[in-house]
Amino acid sequence: MSILITGGAGFIGSHTCVEILDAGYDVVVVDNLSNSSRKALERVEKITGKTLKFYEADVRNTDALRKIFSENSIDAVIHFAGYKAVGESVREPLKYYDNNIGCTVSLLSVMDEFGVKRIVFSSSATVYGIPEKMPITEEMPLSAINPYGRTKLFIEEILRDRYNADNGWSIALLRYFNPIGAHKSGLIGESPKGIPNNLMPFISQVAVGRLTELHVFGDDYNTSDGTGSRDYIHVVDLAKGHVKAIEWAFTHTGCEAFNLGTGKGTTVMELRDAFVRASGVDIPYVIDPRRPGDLDELYASCDKAKSVLGWEATLNINDMCKDTWLWQRDNPNGYD
Ligand code: NAD
Ligand code: UDP
Repeated sequence: MSILITGGAGFIGSHTCVEILDAGYDVVVVDNLSNSSRKALERVEKITGKTLKFYEADVRNTDALRKIFSENSIDAVIHFAGYKAVGESVREPLKYYDNNIGCTVSLLSVMDEFGVKRIVFSSSATVYGIPEKMPITEEMPLSAINPYGRTKLFIEEILRDRYNADNGWSIALLRYFNPIGAHKSGLIGESPKGIPNNLMPFISQVAVGRLTELHVFGDDYNTSDGTGSRDYIHVVDLAKGHVKAIEWAFTHTGCEAFNLGTGKGTTVMELRDAFVRASGVDIPYVIDPRRPGDLDELYASCDKAKSVLGWEATLNINDMCKDTWLWQRDNPNGYD
């Protein structure tokens, strides 16, 4: 069985390539390397001892996709390709609509042409907007609070429409909470371009001296220590969730959403402290004002993923910090 992984050179994509190869599937990656490095794929091959096929191409380019589908017998697709920076999406919304929605529409049309009807999509907890209560379950109301979130919401709707028009499709909408961590080999991990927007890469870059101090965005939230709380999930657990979703897609039809998280919240200060313990390196910090749009806390109910997919997270915050540190220590400049 052959799985096409769009955006497979990226952070979550590269870890998913490892798990999908280890599960015995053939892997074909398409990525335009706009936010990733070819080195990630070389390291995936090193970790697994297996080879994958790589096409450097833009997923919006339907001719490039047709070539991939005609040269390979693709059985299912995992679709990661897209932009993901919330702040940039506010400043440049059209760039996000063009890339995220454009990639999905071209991919679905070429899948249609080749009769491939199984897709696993990278959605996000952002589709819950400002949730009314915790934990968040899949049937809670959906909304978007920025253009990035709107692209995820629209794509979910596009995929639902695709299924409603042809019930032969299998569509898994995976709503990720906060993916962090790295492969335990230390060979692949998160390598953001520029100054990181997210908490964990910021902490790990302070640890290796690329940044001087952590800026904690607000200490007056309604949480145990006043700093924001999120449901962090180890990227390897997340990647294994994709293997389960692919198995589901091979044995079911339908369009189903699944939360992938741990069901537990961790505050900014708890994550910073866990990283200090795991690395033995101090992380100096200052308290800054709240970041606009941030919520007190967010955490998932993962009951549906457990009962339907047979998946649950197994790695904890200490594992996430230990593996991030190993990756960042050995690759202080990421893949550069
Ligand atoms: P990433 O940027 O590391 O990976 C995305 C990959 O897609 C990159 O390799 C990039 O080069 C590629 N890409 C982008 N546009 C493309 C195009 N037009 N054609 C071909 N390739 C293209 O991001 P990630 O963290 O691995 O996220 C993967 C997916 O998961 C994204 O869709 C993201 O929105 C979603 N997601 C991520 C998070 C997170 O916190 N990392 C949370 C929820 C959802
Ligand atoms: N955060 C912070 N400093 C940073 C980045 C993030 O204090 O440099 C906080 C942010 O306010 C939130 C949490 O860390 O409470 C997680 O933020 P991140 O951007 O990683 O993920 P989000 O949940 O916003 O997608």
